[in-house]
Amino acid sequence: RAAAGPQYLTGLNPEQREAVVSLDGPVLVLAGAGTGKTRVLTTRIAHILSQGRARPHEILSVTFTNKAAREMKLRLGQMLGQAVEGMPWLGTFHSIGGRILRIHAELVQLKSNFTVLDVDDQVRLLKQLLQAENIDDKRWPARMLAGLIDGWKNRGLTPAQVPAGEAAVFGNGKGGKLYASYQERLKILNAADFGDLLLENIRLFREHPDVLRQYQNRFKFILVDEYQDTNVAQYLWLRLLSQAPSRAGVPLSAIIPGATDTAVVAENAASPVIPGHAEGVNTEGRDGEGSSPASGSGPPDHPGMTSPPQAPLKNICCVGDDDQSIYGWRGAEVDNILRFDHDFPGAKVIRLERNYRSTGHILAAASHLIAHNEGRLGKTLRTEDVDGEKVTVTGSWDSEEEARAIGEEIEDLQRSGENLNEIAILVRASFQMREFEDRFVTLGLSYRVIGGPRFYERAEIRDALAYLRVINSPADDLAFERIVNVPKRGLGDATVQMLHDHARKRRIPLFEAARAVVETDELKPKARGSLRELILHFDRWRARREVTSHTELAEIVLDESGYTDMWQKDRSADAAGRLDNLKELVRSMEEFENLQGFLEHISLVMDRDGGPDEEAVSLMTLHSAKGLEFDNVFLPGWEEGLFPSQRTLDEQGRAGLEEERRLAHVGLTRARRRAKLYFATNRRIHGTWSTTIPSRFLDELPSPNVEITESKGGSGWGGSGGYGASRFDNVESFGSSYTTPGWQRAQANRAKNRGGGGQARGGFDEAQSSYGSSRGETGGFARN
Ligand code: ATP
Ligand code: MG
Repeated sequence: RAAAGPQYLTGLNPEQREAVVSLDGPVLVLAGAGTGKTRVLTTRIAHILSQGRARPHEILSVTFTNKAAREMKLRLGQMLGQAVEGMPWLGTFHSIGGRILRIHAELVQLKSNFTVLDVDDQVRLLKQLLQAENIDDKRWPARMLAGLIDGWKNRGLTPAQVPAGEAAVFGNGKGGKLYASYQERLKILNAADFGDLLLENIRLFREHPDVLRQYQNRFKFILVDEYQDTNVAQYLWLRLLSQAPSRAGVPLSAIIPGATDTAVVAENAASPVIPGHAEGVNTEGRDGEGSSPASGSGPPDHPGMTSPPQAPLKNICCVGDDDQSIYGWRGAEVDNILRFDHDFPGAKVIRLERNYRSTGHILAAASHLIAHNEGRLGKTLRTEDVDGEKVTVTGSWDSEEEARAIGEEIEDLQRSGENLNEIAILVRASFQMREFEDRFVTLGLSYRVIGGPRFYERAEIRDALAYLRVINSPADDLAFERIVNVPKRGLGDATVQMLHDHARKRRIPLFEAARAVVETDELKPKARGSLRELILHFDRWRARREVTSHTELAEIVLDESGYTDMWQKDRSADAAGRLDNLKELVRSMEEFENLQGFLEHISLVMDRDGGPDEEAVSLMTLHSAKGLEFDNVFLPGWEEGLFPSQRTLDEQGRAGLEEERRLAHVGLTRARRRAKLYFATNRRIHGTWSTTIPSRFLDELPSPNVEITESKGGSGWGGSGGYGASRFDNVESFGSSYTTPGWQRAQANRAKNRGGGGQARGGFDEAQSSYGSSRGETGGFARN
């Protein structure tokens, strides 16, 4: 279908084109999976640029993952050729928030080289604070506090804004105080945690209206992908940026509570602009108190949102799908998308109904499944593609057989000419990955784990990074503490404690404390000697930074610090692997311009790619598969308790079930040509066998679009039936008997654990905690 106009518009359907060319005022594209929402966003940027409506740096485009941002850059490059200079601000909420924060770090009591802490650092720091407060960390684990703080940050709450009742739930009423002292400590350490990248950015905008205005002026167009999964903090941040600058005649104080703006007089004091979400905003003392014009029609307000905004809004375009909202557990508010036209009055809402991704059977299966949810807008999706292959469901005996079966199918696909890059395995919980990794290593099949900084989480990698962090930011106490005695240099706990005391008393970083201490005779000569040597090393490495490439520097550091040597002398089985990992780490730095850029990347990264050009199967959680597509998608582990996750059901009941179902829907809709589902009847989690029953989601699939097949990897399902109404009871082909060692082991274990019985559903209860960290894992820094 040839169309007049620029090349990049050709091939878009009329609704897509409208979404691309409607540049003025707010636009919402609310549409199902695979309808081209992301494509619309990318094309829209191309359109803005080629129409000369803005220069690249005046465009802000927010994606959900770094990978998605890279993809968008790539596409954009293809659409525009070499024509543009510079790039739009394109990245995740956190990476863009972090970028802005770095520019103005001093205004929020940080330095521009601040460190971004990962979860482990966060927990270590909180442990110290708990100790200082004499709070029993067995009863009140630091990880729990980390979770609470994270939740508050997701909701845009500074310590002062946390509702008293909530702050009291931790540590006998000390939760709020701990949050406050944690924030203080971060400043002293010149560090921010992940949530701060956004929260501190919001604070910066609130406390420095001039800075906010600068960005409001700069960003002429804002684009947001996956809008259904924005949380309150992200929403607040967007709202601040998307208000037209104050020349619109609206007092800044109305946009940013607490701000004063003498230059502009409120013309309509009865219609204050409150950027929503009372929790996140101090709504005290704003003008126009008492007026509450918004009532009646429209979706319910966020608490404290008394009126729709009156200021002309930026040209903001958000795209999303309420059926793909899968981050509720992390504070995402699907409401944000449902109330878009309320927040952005006069918004043009565009719906796309044609799915360009999946074949007929897959789309039918996915649509039928999601129709079981009640809380949804509902939408039509059609495809003009062929029906293609049916969705397959395969039962296997246990997860090992499941991995074997999938491995064989992948080899078959490979033999038939499929590109490994077009094959993905999407798991519900990351512990499921190990089995596949083991299998792939055995088969010699290349694979990459997407969405998890698993590689960077390894101890040796974290140690190496800690050295680099201290070089980059001498105030990074956590990093310094991690390596001060690794390898062992006779600087044990007592020494570290002493450094801490010094540092606290004088409010200086540990490194500086160390520098001071070696000039005294407080330490024993041996310790003093080795501490002095360490300091000299660091001074030298820092000096070398100017003259040596960062990769070379890393090699030097690992060498001179004795770290590599430590592993070379290590006799344990995995030492060689660790040395390889360290080499790989140095290699991975080559992609970056400098150390700072590399460390930044590490702290933000969720995507680990194998060799960039290597063909490989992708392995990831369902959560990190959002927005992606593959010809062949394998979906293992569709069992009650695992998927839907028992924990989510227990905690959130019906809402949790619906979110799990949306996740299943996301999984299915990633597939272009083949979707293959699996369940195992026995699963071992951390050494405990459980009998499982097939996921209810399997029963919710429409029969005409589904084919039940036999497992290729082993001798069949071996299911003993008795699973109530499940249609998977009666499948003859699964019924072959089982006498493998695995089975006997399972039997024995089950007998031991449960007195021989084993009611299916109960099996997962024991293993509950193993799902704890797996909900929606997209890796340590999963949070976008
Ligand atoms: P999701 O909700 O999963 O993020 P989406 O709505 O963002 O999906 P896209 O990823 O943009 O969908 O598009 C899905 C696929 O359809 C892509 O491969 C895209 O290139 C293709 N596509 C989109 N629009 C068209 C079109 N008009 N003609 C041909 N292919 C299209
Ligand atoms: Mg998309």
